[in-house]
Amino acid sequence: MKVVNSVAEMRAVRRGLTGAVGFVPTMGYLHEGHLALVRRARSENETVVVSIFVNPTQFGAGEDFEAYPRDPERDLTLLDREKVGVAFTPPAEEMYPAHFGTWVDVQQITERLEGASRPHHFRGVATVVAKLFNIVEPTRVYFGQKDAQQLIVIKRMVSDLNMNLEIVAVPTVREPDGLAMSSRNTYLSPRERQAALVLWQALGLASQLWSEGERDAHKIRQKIAALIGSEPLAQIDYISVADAESLEELAEISRLALVSLAVRIGKTRLIDNIVLPSSEAL
Ligand code: AMP
Repeated sequence: MKVVNSVAEMRAVRRGLTGAVGFVPTMGYLHEGHLALVRRARSENETVVVSIFVNPTQFGAGEDFEAYPRDPERDLTLLDREKVGVAFTPPAEEMYPAHFGTWVDVQQITERLEGASRPHHFRGVATVVAKLFNIVEPTRVYFGQKDAQQLIVIKRMVSDLNMNLEIVAVPTVREPDGLAMSSRNTYLSPRERQAALVLWQALGLASQLWSEGERDAHKIRQKIAALIGSEPLAQIDYISVADAESLEELAEISRLALVSLAVRIGKTRLIDNIVLPSSEAL
């Protein structure tokens, strides 16, 4: 596996690649969720490129940019084991030199959910992802359904800006008890780790209500809120039952719905989601 730190070298390596290139953008501290993306990319492309870059511009003031967990050596060992061809690990100055001043601002769908709670988050995400696409020139790019809104925002950007690549969505990888894998789970104390299960329980409740015939989105939100409210360590940021494409909140579930949650467990903010009707084993 080649480890590349500069844009110039990444371009030089890219020029030498023939066949399809699968790309997995990450912020590192890799877990089985990331590795599922890598394995899918391996199975569909000649070469896999993985970027590890904790992108400062997608973190707000007071968020966890400095504290975000990092373990580059372990990450590189894991990627090497997965037969990744190139790990792109640029320092921040390489991605954001002093004169940097251009932003990709996806409208509307970025104003809801994560965008409402984290102003400028998606501007940072879309900008860094556009830059990475220009540097890596991938054939296919792999994103997790875990960050459902991010996936929708990136798809919109790719379509609006006529980017010549395919976006592939990969289902959320979970711990055996249902907690969605996340680099941020490492922040949780044992008691908080237990409390964090309430997200998966809440999504399970939504799925169960839907299966029993409930189509009133407001009732589903209310029942989820009551369940999460019964966990003393949990504080709700948002509960959403929205159209799975436009992310507009639904009154009645008459088409594919994205049920998404952001919940603080102690100081750690966790997100999770399912699509109804759900194909996930709950
Ligand atoms: P991150 O390093 O958190 O920026 O995530 C990098 C990519 O991995 C994004 O496309 C995420 O959606 C995806 N990802 C993170 N956690 C999971 C998970 N539990 N299952 C599937 N994909 C994930």
